[in-house]
Amino acid sequence: MNSCDSVTEIKGIAEKTAKLFHKIEVDTIRDLLYYLPRDYKDLTNTKKISEVKFGETALLCVKILTIPVTKYIRKGMEITSFQVTDTTGIVNIDIFNQRYIKNNIRQGQTIYVYGRVEYKFGRITISSPELYFKKPEDSFLPLYPLTNGLTQNMLRKAMKEALYKTSIEESYSDAFLKRFELPTIRTALQEVHFPTSIEHAKSARTRIVFDELLIFGRMIEMLGEEKNGQNRVVIKKISKIEFTKKLKFQPTNAQIRVMSEIADDLTSTHYMNRLVQGDVGSGKTAIAFFAMDCMIRNGYQSVMMAPTELLADQHYIAAKELFDEHEIVLVVGSMSAKQRAVQKEKIESGSAKIIIGTHALIYGDTHFSNLGLIITDEQHRFGVKQRANLAGAGKDVHTLIMSATPIPRSLALVLYGKTKISIIDELPPGRQRIKTYLIRQNKYQEMIRFVRNEMDHGRQVYMVCPLIEDSENSDARSASEIFEELKNVYQGYEIALLHGKLKNDLKQQIMQRYAEGKIKILICTTVIEVGINIQNASVMVVFNAERFGLAQLHQLRGRVGRAEYQSYCFLLSDNTNAFERLQVLVKTNDGFEIAEKDLQLRGSGDVFGVRQHGMGNLKIANLISDSKQLLRAREVLEILKSSKEFKEEYDKITQRASQNMNEKMIEIAFN
Ligand code: ADP
Ligand code: MG
Repeated sequence: MNSCDSVTEIKGIAEKTAKLFHKIEVDTIRDLLYYLPRDYKDLTNTKKISEVKFGETALLCVKILTIPVTKYIRKGMEITSFQVTDTTGIVNIDIFNQRYIKNNIRQGQTIYVYGRVEYKFGRITISSPELYFKKPEDSFLPLYPLTNGLTQNMLRKAMKEALYKTSIEESYSDAFLKRFELPTIRTALQEVHFPTSIEHAKSARTRIVFDELLIFGRMIEMLGEEKNGQNRVVIKKISKIEFTKKLKFQPTNAQIRVMSEIADDLTSTHYMNRLVQGDVGSGKTAIAFFAMDCMIRNGYQSVMMAPTELLADQHYIAAKELFDEHEIVLVVGSMSAKQRAVQKEKIESGSAKIIIGTHALIYGDTHFSNLGLIITDEQHRFGVKQRANLAGAGKDVHTLIMSATPIPRSLALVLYGKTKISIIDELPPGRQRIKTYLIRQNKYQEMIRFVRNEMDHGRQVYMVCPLIEDSENSDARSASEIFEELKNVYQGYEIALLHGKLKNDLKQQIMQRYAEGKIKILICTTVIEVGINIQNASVMVVFNAERFGLAQLHQLRGRVGRAEYQSYCFLLSDNTNAFERLQVLVKTNDGFEIAEKDLQLRGSGDVFGVRQHGMGNLKIANLISDSKQLLRAREVLEILKSSKEFKEEYDKITQRASQNMNEKMIEIAFN
């Protein structure tokens, strides 16, 4: 068999089973071989009944003490029970709906029982164990993530056959494997599925992860490669003082430091390539404007990209105010072709000094007259591919990336390649901690009164819902429904509904009225999630909070508490499963801490939303827990780059990486 063959080549996998495999994204033999166990069942050691703890899963070697008895419980449910012993204790075995088991066992017979030992109704019990009539042959059995209809046994059988019959191609030479201390891919796959020891399983996984990360690392490298040229954007005039005078506030020390770092970059011999990380509300916009100010003073254009039209609008309005003597244009997807043509003219002639927009900008065929800087706000919302496109649009310009999502340094190093990092680790003075509460149904009315009281004190409110309209498939409350309900509850207060399906003009008008303080409550979807800055808003209510990720909730909460007013965030949920997660937000306001907890609770795959499919996808490696391997992959790539001996390997890695990039949209969105 060949690794690109369909799984139906395996004996026992016909179309119906293949459909089940398809559900776990296994279509080819290769997919199957790379479908790794989430854990192993340890069958190497038998334990004595007296030494197992309740709740522990163990293998026992026991004699059958009593004849199995089957009891009818209710329709479709019967239990067959019997007792076993190993002289250190007696265990009760319960087996559901398998009355035929009686025919297979005899009193006094020795069997092996594998299962979770529990204390139930005064007896030590194992429910639904696996029974072996002789000592199990395999020492460790793989446990795979399953889907309905697919069993461990089906996967194990298919895997054994695939391993046995497939010719697995090794992509590295013996010398390479030896130099970097890697097992062959065949050994690695064999050992990862059916290990002879846990150590072997680990090193096997390491080889597979490492391989994946080499390709991934090379891919990221290639995305950033174009930017090594000499700086030809000449920046001579910079004035932090004059810029600061235009601001309505005194910048924080952190802001001043980051501005200096940017000033140094802009005047150096290389192009700036900098990421500014700062928690929500730390004042990243002012930093962006400072960089633009430097461009304007020296006659260059700057581009600022935002992930949503609402945010682009907001930046546009703020930039117009700050740079009132210069022409600023807005380019967003919802503009008419005619409007765009006008903007394009201004950009190409160079009359527009600042260009603000959404990705409409990236994909447009706009030529700039003398572009000096590209800023990407809320970078975590852009995919890597988009970033690459942008870099292509302005290869010879400075770039500045702004993000509120903290990522571990090792990861940042790899993902952002040569990008330098600035951190704003200080909030503007006078900010108060946003008081956050988890609200269950029984406190809802109290919260409604609280919100009214806040409005009576002049403040404004956001209410965020996961859905726009009611849906049959979901019991979450929709924005429309809540809007109708609260219109009655809050008579006399202006209340508006805002979501992504509204026409852009209307969205802008609503946002404008909200900014002016006329609208008191904005009932919305996550359209306002990032960047929106209304200082007078002091209450954020999130309906069905369990539907959102922690980092996302932190962003939403960051819409309030942007001035000196005490602000509040109410997370509404009756889903007890989510309470532990939501408590994280109740306990802390620190974005770094939240991101870390989020990673722990969800794993990096979800948090970073690395969505790639096909060869070399990051299905196996975890960018956080495998960060050591990630750094190692980076080091090895450095070695390979200048090595004659491994040129062939390096070319192969490059080839696989570019294949990956071309085949699929690679999106690494930090959500
Ligand atoms: P973010 O980092 O989330 O993008 P913004 O740049 O939108 O934050 O700033 C949040 C709010 O804080 C804005 O209203 C901004 O005017 C204000 N702000 C920024 N820096 C300062 C400062 N040093 N002192 C007081 N207010 C500030
Ligand atoms: Mg911002």
